[in-house]
Amino acid sequence: MILTDQSILTQSSENIKPEEYQEVFNKLETVLQQTPNAVGLAAPQLGIMKKAFVIFHNGKIHRFANSRIVNCRNREDDEEACLSIPDRRFNVSRFHIITIKDDVNGLKKYVGKFARVVQHEHDHTRGITLVQSGVEVK
Ligand SMILES: [Zn+2]
Repeated sequence: MILTDQSILTQSSENIKPEEYQEVFNKLETVLQQTPNAVGLAAPQLGIMKKAFVIFHNGKIHRFANSRIVNCRNREDDEEACLSIPDRRFNVSRFHIITIKDDVNGLKKYVGKFARVVQHEHDHTRGITLVQSGVEVK
C-alpha cells in the first residue's frame, strides 16, 4: 500500500539501523516488484519513517540506507512522476552526476537516469516530494 498522504510524506525520516534492514528492504522490494513500471520506492511511502529506499536499475534492485550527498554537478531539467502523487507529472531540476555515501554501497558515483532516481528517492527520506522540488506539467 503506497501512501499518498502529503502530511506523512513531508516528514523527515530517522536513520535505519542494520538490524532493521531485512524487514524494511523486504517490504520495499516486494511492493516495488508488485507495482507496474515502478523504478524506485522509499520507506516513507510505506509509512516507514526510515532513511531507506530501493531502485530498480539495469535488471537489479539496489538498496540504499542513510544516504548522504557528498558531491554533485551539472544540473539538468527533466520530467518525473511519483507513485505517491498519482496521475501528475513534474519538471524537476536534478544533478546529472552525484556522489552519494550510504551504508550499503559506500561511496559511489551515479550518472544520468540512475542519478535522477537516486535523488528522487533520497528526497523522500528528507520529507521532500515533487510538490516541493518540481513544477507541475499541465
Ligand atoms: Zn516518489
